[in-house]
Amino acid sequence: MTAGAGARRRSSTAGAAGAVLGLSPAEVGALRRTCSAWAARAQRDLPWRGTRDPWGVLVSELMLQQTQVARVVDRWPKFLARFPTPAVCAAAPVGEVIAAWAGLGYNRRAVNLHRCAVVVVAEHDGALPSDLAALLRLPGIGPYTARAVAAFAFEADVGVLDTNVGRVLARVAGRPLAPAEAQAAADGLVPRRRGWAWNQGMLDLGAMVCTARAPRCDTCPIVRRCAWRRAGNPEPDPARGSAAVAGGQSRFAGSDRQGRGRLVAALAAGAVVPPDELATVMGWPDDPARARRVADGVLRDGLAAARPDGALTLP
Ligand code: SF4
Repeated sequence: MTAGAGARRRSSTAGAAGAVLGLSPAEVGALRRTCSAWAARAQRDLPWRGTRDPWGVLVSELMLQQTQVARVVDRWPKFLARFPTPAVCAAAPVGEVIAAWAGLGYNRRAVNLHRCAVVVVAEHDGALPSDLAALLRLPGIGPYTARAVAAFAFEADVGVLDTNVGRVLARVAGRPLAPAEAQAAADGLVPRRRGWAWNQGMLDLGAMVCTARAPRCDTCPIVRRCAWRRAGNPEPDPARGSAAVAGGQSRFAGSDRQGRGRLVAALAAGAVVPPDELATVMGWPDDPARARRVADGVLRDGLAAARPDGALTLP
């Protein structure tokens, strides 16, 4: 791409962001400057921000998708000490990866990570690709994760769109955004060659200032560009139902997820669970039918294997 073509493409993506957010080019520029200055002062000191190793970044991103930051801070280095590369992970039985993941919840992430490691070894010589399209073709890697690896490992100028960023964008726009709009806005806001810092700043802004329940608009660096704030924060919150913005998590206590978690935790601790003990292990001693149904889902998801006698073990 020539310098002129590159400049035109950048200005058109910035224009697309401005169109979605209802901002002029000058306002997009001002938003970038104030947000970048705030992020340089306020950024969180998180251990994965010190690496550009694509595998380390991928592991951190998968852990962070459903688990609180404080728990990931503790578990991320331990996981990488056991599985420092895709090759080490791919060579291990998937059950070992599940065991190392136990306690983080949503254990299917461990199975997906193992599948991804196997393909990275088989098709990419053990190194995660930098190309966004190639990242998207890996098993278990969705649009968010692919962009996060591209931005945080390879410092690409792509917009990372998670629930935090989606919430900020919808509020700045003052309306719920369709998926293509939100991604266009996230991509178009990234200042040239600042993909890493910009995206970390946007994540921080959503996590620390533009929070789901109590946005701190009085201290927000982009308050002057925010349509929802200008309107007086009326209900409904435009982030509700907007692209990439997660709804509240369903109640855990008493849920199928709780029983799944108990079963996987028992298997990860080395237990072999016969069919007639499933209900007890899963916390539903009076409901063996429910235990069987949920255990079948655990088997389908690759989180357990059945022995010939029907007992469950780690795969
Ligand atoms: S002004 Fe308030 S609602 Fe708007 S982006 Fe900032 S914190 Fe979020």
